[in-house]
Amino acid sequence: MTKKIPATLIPGDGIGPEITQATIEVLDALGTPFVWDPQHAGVGAYEATGEVLPPKTLESLRRTGLALKGPLTTPIGEGFRSINVTLRQMFGLYANIRPTKTRLPGERYEGVDLVVVRENIEGLYAAMEHYMPVADDPEAVAYGAGFNTRAECRRIVRHAFEYALQHGRKKVTLVHKANILKKLSGLFLHEGRRVAAEYAGRVACDERIVDACAMELVIRPEAYDVIVTTNLFGDILSDLTAGLVGGLGMAPGANIGEKMAIFEAVHGSAPDIAGQDKANPVALLSAASLMLVHVGRADLAQTLDRAIEEVLVQQGVRTVDLGGQAGTKAFTEALLSALKN
Ligand code: NAD
Repeated sequence: MTKKIPATLIPGDGIGPEITQATIEVLDALGTPFVWDPQHAGVGAYEATGEVLPPKTLESLRRTGLALKGPLTTPIGEGFRSINVTLRQMFGLYANIRPTKTRLPGERYEGVDLVVVRENIEGLYAAMEHYMPVADDPEAVAYGAGFNTRAECRRIVRHAFEYALQHGRKKVTLVHKANILKKLSGLFLHEGRRVAAEYAGRVACDERIVDACAMELVIRPEAYDVIVTTNLFGDILSDLTAGLVGGLGMAPGANIGEKMAIFEAVHGSAPDIAGQDKANPVALLSAASLMLVHVGRADLAQTLDRAIEEVLVQQGVRTVDLGGQAGTKAFTEALLSALKN
């Protein structure tokens, strides 16, 4: 009998419940080993319980060490701190892995196949921000700081190299802004070079300044294999790379720590299309596929990926964000039929 694996399920806000339901239906049909413990987080949880991260949810995460999570809404500029950032810091989810691969023929970019490894708990996301008053204006100047530690720079770069070895990737690119942020980004580059030297002869390494990297990703993304970078640069570049292959509806992400892994779509809660059966569930489905690989079920991940490809490419069933007409439910039905055949 297959070993059952307990996992926390957080449907999240906005389109979260729709794409989570679609994903769970598909995973059930696939016969995955997960035993789900559904829990609330986000704005929905706040409205129901007065807490964005209820203690029951945290207990479940500590117990299972594994989760599939829908997007969580964070109010911009005011209100509570991002729950995603809180979760990453609370559980030490230091590596954010975002693979990007061309799946749709006729896309603007063919042959994209790269992974962004983003440092997930330090950098400018520390968000140590303040206002400084000038004359009678208390908010005349806004200033902020970030931090990178030597240990964390080494850990994330090592993670990228180990990922490259495990996944047969040939090159890791260190992406930085050390020409301007000589200490904050310079430490990352310096430590990155030291770690890279340990992998010499096994995995190649090169370097790019982040702005040049952004331009080159648009002009020739095939030049990249694994990108490793600090928190904010990784956040921005991985949305850019998602845009190369059909947009946010196609991009999965994994948040990995020493004792926990949380899998999610890169996109947010998309309030503009929530509850309208318009959301593309492929990003969360692909996150579930990464989760299957993580628990040693690459076989099921491959079946899932093939079925998604069959529906998107051979059958041409696509949601509106990909230029199609299918709703979330119709896409899910097509995927369930593809899995039966
Ligand atoms: P968003 O990713 O929610 O939406 C950006 C655009 O992409 C919207 O037009 C949306 O309709 C579209 N889109 C996103 N996902 C889609 C999908 N699966 N199918 C079809 N179209 C899709 O970004 P936003 O509007 O900047 O953020 C909304 C909220 O989500 C904010 O509160 C933000 O903080 C939060 N957010 C959460 C996460 C997370 O939980 N990991 C990530 C990013 C943003």
